[in-house]
Amino acid sequence: MSILNIDVYPAPVLKRKTEKILNIDDGIRRLAEDMLETMYKAPGVGLAAPQVGQALSLVVADPGEKDKPTPLILINPEITAYEGRTGITEGCLSVPGYTAEVVRHQKIIVRAYTLDEKEIELTLEDFPAIVLQHELDHLQGILFIDRISRLKRSIYDRKFRKGTLDQS
Ligand SMILES: [Zn+2]
Repeated sequence: MSILNIDVYPAPVLKRKTEKILNIDDGIRRLAEDMLETMYKAPGVGLAAPQVGQALSLVVADPGEKDKPTPLILINPEITAYEGRTGITEGCLSVPGYTAEVVRHQKIIVRAYTLDEKEIELTLEDFPAIVLQHELDHLQGILFIDRISRLKRSIYDRKFRKGTLDQS
């Protein structure tokens, strides 16, 4: 396994809509394992393939308790149902030096394939639901800074241009 390089905004791959994975082969298995290792090392609670330069429909996540690792690998994931509203302050390994609150669904149902080609359905609420919505956005070329108010975004863009993101 190896640690992958994480692409950061404004890398073009982060804005691309990803391709569905048609064959779960050794290359995909290795990519998923490397992504998990990269995510834990960062550290982060989720990572999508575009963040490591691959425009593929693959995310890894571990939104559970810190001392109990429960890695999730989801291939071609889709949200099939959602309800409620929630929101927390989000950050992203591809958007360093910035956090902002984002409005999300409180509960979602996600359908996806596992590495052994089983179709699964997950019902997620609150923090895990937020993490998965953030990661699935990456598969559509959407970053959390695309979901904040225009005013906040213009402040972000100005700080980005000036290189002052880490200062408050
Ligand atoms: Zn992200």
